[in-house]
Amino acid sequence: MRKNIAVLGSTGSIGTQTLDVARKHPELLTVTAIACGSSIELAEKQAREFGVKVAAVYDERACEELRVRLADTDVRVLSGMDGLIEMCSLPEVDIVVTAIGGMIGIRPTIAAISAGKDIALANKETCVTAGHLIIPMAKEKGVRILPVDSEHSAIFQALQGRADSKIRRILLTASGGPFRGKHREELMHVTAKEALAHPTWAMGPKITIDSATMVNKGLEVIEAKWLFDVDVDQIEVVIQPQSLIHSAVEYEDGSILAQLGPSDMRIAIQYALTYPTHLPSPAVPLDFRMLKGIDLDVPDNETFRGLPLAIRSIKTGGSMPTAFNASNEWANAIFRRGGISFMQIYDIIEDVMDRHKVIPNPSVEEILAVQEEIDCYCAEKYGR
Ligand code: MG
Repeated sequence: MRKNIAVLGSTGSIGTQTLDVARKHPELLTVTAIACGSSIELAEKQAREFGVKVAAVYDERACEELRVRLADTDVRVLSGMDGLIEMCSLPEVDIVVTAIGGMIGIRPTIAAISAGKDIALANKETCVTAGHLIIPMAKEKGVRILPVDSEHSAIFQALQGRADSKIRRILLTASGGPFRGKHREELMHVTAKEALAHPTWAMGPKITIDSATMVNKGLEVIEAKWLFDVDVDQIEVVIQPQSLIHSAVEYEDGSILAQLGPSDMRIAIQYALTYPTHLPSPAVPLDFRMLKGIDLDVPDNETFRGLPLAIRSIKTGGSMPTAFNASNEWANAIFRRGGISFMQIYDIIEDVMDRHKVIPNPSVEEILAVQEEIDCYCAEKYGR
């Protein structure tokens, strides 16, 4: 069945890969709307290629420029947060790919769910900070939340057709990032450039640093807890350096079902868009003759504290995951600018979490207020 898709964050890593999938299946997927932050040059190209109805730009000035550039077309150009919300709620849209990074994705995602759109969820922050709001809301609206993160897609795939079976554990795999095996002392002087050289996945810069710190895995544990309705203690992180096993589910009888495949996000994106069918994808298939082996290891939580800090945040609950996420966004950005050392990322997160006064069951407004408060605190204490 043909689907009209809206791609929130069409010019980023997940967004451009989503469009690759759409190119592969023009008979199934129509790109109806796109939205970006400010990369209008690419947005213009995308709007023309796919003949979209709506293009939204978060940055108002960039939006004006896109409006001028697309003046010869019928594309409706929308701006700001209202524009993002409107493009996600268009009557003709069936599914929204939330590929935009950061807290900016929360309001549009919630708007899309209220409008009854299925969600191909790539924006972790929404689930991490507002899982307690969006999961019940999706249930109430009869909206499907289809995971796009490779690990969550793997878990989702391993759950298909086993509705009455009880899960014992979710085995969430992690590559361990570029610094796996390094000790504290060695990590004191690593640079953002080194952290950005991810061994197996090609991703945006923010998430690549999060992968090096294991914060990304922490966010994914929280995401998995909400998406699959399991206790945090049922989620075990396993290091799998080759990124071949994308995650697994262990059932009560001891059976473990894993999903394996090439490290290509387009498989997970496509499955979310063509669920429940596996179709030919743009990914190059795995060549088993080239594989040296599949290694497994346990995470080093003493050195890479991103994971234990995330678990502490979700066990505390309320607004604490927002504090974890917001402080990390700051620390991640300062590290990328060369302002702090790699290990200081954890110190900033811990400092913010230690000081945070938890709001139980926060509303979207309260979540965004906590984010802002932490932004102010970090700006003052750690500098811009
Ligand atoms: Mg992932």
